[in-house]
Amino acid sequence: MIQIKSPAEIAKMRVAGLVVGRTLAKLRAAVAPGVTTADLDALAEESIRGEGATPSFKGYGHPPFPATICASVNEAIVHGIPRASVVLREGDIVSIDCGAIVEGWHGDSAITVGVGEIDPESQRLLDWTEAAMWRGMAAAHLGGRVGDIGKAIEEFVRPSGLSIVEEYVGHGIGTEMHQDPPVHHIARAPRGPKIVEGLVLAVEPQLNLGTRRTRLLDDAWTVVTADGARSAHFEHTFTVTADGPIVLTALDGGVAGFASVAAAS
Ligand code: MG
Ligand code: MG
Repeated sequence: MIQIKSPAEIAKMRVAGLVVGRTLAKLRAAVAPGVTTADLDALAEESIRGEGATPSFKGYGHPPFPATICASVNEAIVHGIPRASVVLREGDIVSIDCGAIVEGWHGDSAITVGVGEIDPESQRLLDWTEAAMWRGMAAAHLGGRVGDIGKAIEEFVRPSGLSIVEEYVGHGIGTEMHQDPPVHHIARAPRGPKIVEGLVLAVEPQLNLGTRRTRLLDDAWTVVTADGARSAHFEHTFTVTADGPIVLTALDGGVAGFASVAAAS
């Protein structure tokens, strides 16, 4: 069932979204050679709890996810478990997914960050994945369909030659982290529910340098590319109003991101 939020409830989701946005900004700044993904996780938990919020991911699912963030390095796509044994090295890329709860309302956002200097192919992967997320959100209009998002992402990504992961999709979000409707990152028929005021969605494309095929590791969480090629993941939580979209997990509400879409088209 789709949960439609009132403006007051969306204002609460904005508070949760800003906790996530500020936490990811701290994590981005902390990424460096020699840092472990467990270090990033500790920083994230301190940031979220320091703002009086609760991590969304800790204890989620079966088996319960053991950490505050997902930290997915290089060929890992999503759901990487932070570990003291995973030391970031110059040239790696790390996807960091973060969720927080404030007064029962969730925010969910992810970034992929280069560790020190990264090769041009990896940088291109990051740039296309982030741009695809913004293109998808920019395609969402009141009266349109949720499927417009995936169609826009697929059409945008096609000329890049990168592949789009299909198994792990975006979602409605509100008083639970994962709600209806699913938000596919490719075109799908039927086109999904109507986009109305009060609908809040997380859009989170994952793009791969090689095959779109995935593999689940023995830890029951970490998803990697089947061919070992690198993958990137970006995510924001957003809503559409009569005055346009608002990105609840972006510190500026999405102003800069949507301006970059407009400038490129
Ligand atoms: Mg997420
Ligand atoms: Mg999500």
